[in-house]
Amino acid sequence: MFNIENSSIRKNLILIQLATAFMAVLICCVFFVYNDIRIYKETSVKTKQSIAEIVGMSTAPALGFLDRDAAKQMLLKLKSNPTILNAVILDKEGKEFARYNKAGEEAFSFPATGAQTVDQSDMGQRILVSYKIHDPDFLGTVILRAELSGFTESVLNYVKIAAFILVVSLVAAFLISTFLQRDITNRLLAFVAKTQEVSGTNDFSIRLPTTGKDEISTLSAAFNNMLGQIEKMQGVLKQNNVQLERRVRQRTAELEAANKELERFVYVASHDLQEPLRTITNYTGLIEKGYAAQLDEKGNRYLASTLKATARMRVLIKDLLELSRIGKDARFTQVDTGEILKETIGQLNAAIEESETNIIASPLPVLQGNEVELKLLFQNLISNAIKFKKKGAQPVIQISAEEKPTHYLFAFKDNGIGIEEQYKERIFIVFQRLHNKDEYAGTGIGLATCQKIVAMHKGEIWVESSPGAGSTFYFTIQKDLK
Ligand code: ADP
Repeated sequence: MFNIENSSIRKNLILIQLATAFMAVLICCVFFVYNDIRIYKETSVKTKQSIAEIVGMSTAPALGFLDRDAAKQMLLKLKSNPTILNAVILDKEGKEFARYNKAGEEAFSFPATGAQTVDQSDMGQRILVSYKIHDPDFLGTVILRAELSGFTESVLNYVKIAAFILVVSLVAAFLISTFLQRDITNRLLAFVAKTQEVSGTNDFSIRLPTTGKDEISTLSAAFNNMLGQIEKMQGVLKQNNVQLERRVRQRTAELEAANKELERFVYVASHDLQEPLRTITNYTGLIEKGYAAQLDEKGNRYLASTLKATARMRVLIKDLLELSRIGKDARFTQVDTGEILKETIGQLNAAIEESETNIIASPLPVLQGNEVELKLLFQNLISNAIKFKKKGAQPVIQISAEEKPTHYLFAFKDNGIGIEEQYKERIFIVFQRLHNKDEYAGTGIGLATCQKIVAMHKGEIWVESSPGAGSTFYFTIQKDLK
């Protein structure tokens, strides 16, 4: 089926015009052919009617004198007209008086004639005409049977002429419509080409010609107007983008600088604090050893508190130093995480044995990473799992890793106290602890350190947990660390 939407407008217009012209010419042709055939038939009938009248008038005397031979002789003259096939003269009682059959033509049984002067039966290409003879009284009737000579040929001729007119007018209509609609379709096609160019190149500076006052010019002007607005907006957007990019770059640089400065400060501070702290620890140790006996009970209590505080400060400074050190040595090598786990278990042996922790590990991968930092990561996660164990239950830690297309996914699952939903993000922030230091020892730096190590390996760390049901810490290590 022809689909107007999938065809070009030029073709559609030509087709519509051709269809209109075809229909108009066809209706005219049908009308003229029908009319000409009707006139042709009427003329033929009239001619035969005249012949019947002449025959009737000429045979009136023969009928009057009942001279059948004379009537027959008269009828024989019809031979000169080959379209007359049969003829009959009926007397006033309607009985056959004389008859004529064209040579080779069979005798035709004529119907009884009515009262009319002319009786015409249309039998397609054969017609019957009759004439009632009066002289002046009614004497009888002449009936002729004739063929419409050349009827088929003339109908064929009419059809041929109609077809010829149809073809000629269609060709003319095609030429005229092609010529006349060329200007419209050319402009429309140019419009379409320009819009395609705009959408293809995203060049909004393109403009359409707008000469004239017709709908296409109006459409082009509206389109140009729209393009102008888009171009303006694009300009503003571009400018904003450039400004935004510049600002983001500036802020990122500022942030990076501030971050570096802060890290340097933490590093230097924690490094430099170690020396005086060591002195304080040493001297308080010396005081405890040499002067404890001279101090009263209060003095001894103060001394014990000072010793405890300095010990805690030492741990804090060590952890801080560790945190600020991460990333300073960003060398990546082939690391066997199974080996790392073994070493970590070795290091934490005392705590593991004391707490009777059961560590179940599935095979762990060999991957690209920083060995020192990964060790620290494993250490922090395992020691937390031991530290935050549920009272009265044997701690079980399950460690596994899964290889994904772009990274490894590690899981450290424990059966400890668990973490409430609202703290799942907070615990990764430095110094954020959920418990009192007397309840669970610690500095609140461990998970911040873990996050920094994972980030250094282009990964992410998160926890899934519910209070009382244990926690699973997940982290990823990217395969491609370049
Ligand atoms: P710290 O262990 O020194 O307190 P972390 O940064 O390692 O500091 O942990 C922060 C907090 O997250 C902990 O104080 C604890 O409340 C919670 N947490 C960490 N690991 C676990 C765990 N395995 N089970 C339950 N809570 C945990």
